[in-house]
Amino acid sequence: MVKIRSEPLELKTLQCLRVRMELSEQEEQNLLNLQQGYRGECAFDRRVENLGNHCIILNDLLLEHSNTMFQLDSLFITQQKIYLFEVKNYEGDYYVDGDRWYMKSGKEVKNPLLQLKRSETLLRQVLQQLKINLPVESYLVMINPHFFLYNTPIDLPILFHSQLNRFLSKLKTNLFPLNKNHKTLAELLRAIHIEKSPYVRIPDYTFEGLRKGIFCNGCGRPMEKVNRVFVRCRGCNCEEVIDTSIVRSLGEYKLLFPDRKITTNGVYDWCGGLISRYIIRRILVKEYDLVGNSKNSYFIKKE
Ligand SMILES: [Zn+2]
Repeated sequence: MVKIRSEPLELKTLQCLRVRMELSEQEEQNLLNLQQGYRGECAFDRRVENLGNHCIILNDLLLEHSNTMFQLDSLFITQQKIYLFEVKNYEGDYYVDGDRWYMKSGKEVKNPLLQLKRSETLLRQVLQQLKINLPVESYLVMINPHFFLYNTPIDLPILFHSQLNRFLSKLKTNLFPLNKNHKTLAELLRAIHIEKSPYVRIPDYTFEGLRKGIFCNGCGRPMEKVNRVFVRCRGCNCEEVIDTSIVRSLGEYKLLFPDRKITTNGVYDWCGGLISRYIIRRILVKEYDLVGNSKNSYFIKKE
């Protein structure tokens, strides 16, 4: 059993917004950090996907204990232990001085081990509350092969890129069949997982204030209509079937405006008038039911 990882809502939203409005420098930076973090987590997922059946993997759990929320990048339930992994995708040279971490330039960064410790403590308390007696072992995974940490004390619970394979093969030889209690624990943790993170940092935006059009899935630049079948990116020249580009743009519309009704006119405006209402309507009726009378009609997802 696995709780799979999906692109965080904050990341998806910022990616949609970036092509349709100016992001501040801080928002751009936040987006880059989220992208890099997510890529790192996915890289970790690929490394652990062959661990087999005797290990339950729960990704991206957001839990709460005594009014404090904490996120767990990856949690493994094995027969004898729970493993907790905090995955970081830092790149470049860093050094450690006591409890502090610095970039080579001297700029201090948050010590990820403190975050790991905090999560571990809170997780222990949650487990205690659930009357679970498994020990917890936690590691900071520095997944990027181009990361180096000078001055690392030997006893820090860090797994560097070059150590991960050895760690995982050792772990694999120590995996034994799980029983009903392990599965119950996994279900309990999934049940108390908080779906909607309150920590998302997204700029204010309105439908009116955003750029309209169809934007390239690759480079984010505006697309133009080529003929009745294709649109083409003005930046990278890639082409996309009109139907696909509308479904994709509609996905962005729904993500950014979950409460806004889906109407032919709305989607027409959203796509910058690039595609005729007739085609948009044809695509919408394939996947949606039309409700309401002609003037105020809108679409809802087919049952
Ligand atoms: Zn492009």
